[in-house]
Amino acid sequence: MGNGKQAFFWHDNWLRSGKLIDITGATCTRYQGVARSARVCDAVSTGQWRVRGQRSRNFHELHHKIQLEPVPNNLMANDQFLWRHEAYVYKDSFNASKTWEQIPNKWNGNKLATGDRLRKWGIQQGCVLCGERDETRDHLFFACPYSYTVWDRLASRLVGRRINPDWQDMLRFIQTGASNRADQVLIRLVFQAVVYNVWRERNGCRHQHSPRGIEQMIKAIHKGVKNMISSLRYPWNHPLNGLLRR
Ligand SMILES: [Zn+2]
Repeated sequence: MGNGKQAFFWHDNWLRSGKLIDITGATCTRYQGVARSARVCDAVSTGQWRVRGQRSRNFHELHHKIQLEPVPNNLMANDQFLWRHEAYVYKDSFNASKTWEQIPNKWNGNKLATGDRLRKWGIQQGCVLCGERDETRDHLFFACPYSYTVWDRLASRLVGRRINPDWQDMLRFIQTGASNRADQVLIRLVFQAVVYNVWRERNGCRHQHSPRGIEQMIKAIHKGVKNMISSLRYPWNHPLNGLLRR
């Protein structure tokens, strides 16, 4: 954590215990006195953490943990987002294979963290990106017209005619479908970047504003993936160097 202005209080893993919204449950966020769309810095005022719930049995431990964190302030640098290499190992460097290894575990059970949990309580959660009434993992990746357009535009050249909105089918393609190693690394990068960005967008615009324009999202991911490849510094004859010109 730096100044707390970029990381989302409920949706980013800034306490290293996972997302807070998964710990408290979506309906408890109001109880803590921190808005669902809050950044970490919004939970601070006059140099102190302002999070309610210290007397609650359910939140006592979480509250205590937050109090032990350094309080962000304006003089600190921007928050830095780290990549998970293994459980409990976070680095600022991106490693495609390490990141890839995390994904099957993360998505095991085919459920979204919050939407499906809410559904168990009879609360239906709509898709904030397109307005569809029932938001499931399969909707978000990639049956949703918003996310599918992003996925299609960024991945169609690599996936070819097999591109479609079916999550399982796209996972299979990513594991075994690419015709050469460079394409395989690239499609995994693109896949990971699209999933990450769609997920962040979905969390960010919940209870907040309308989603970023599709073109803007595509441009941002394209640029991000390009930067990632160029920062990997492969030897001059490595096949990935050719990808920069695509
Ligand atoms: Zn949707």
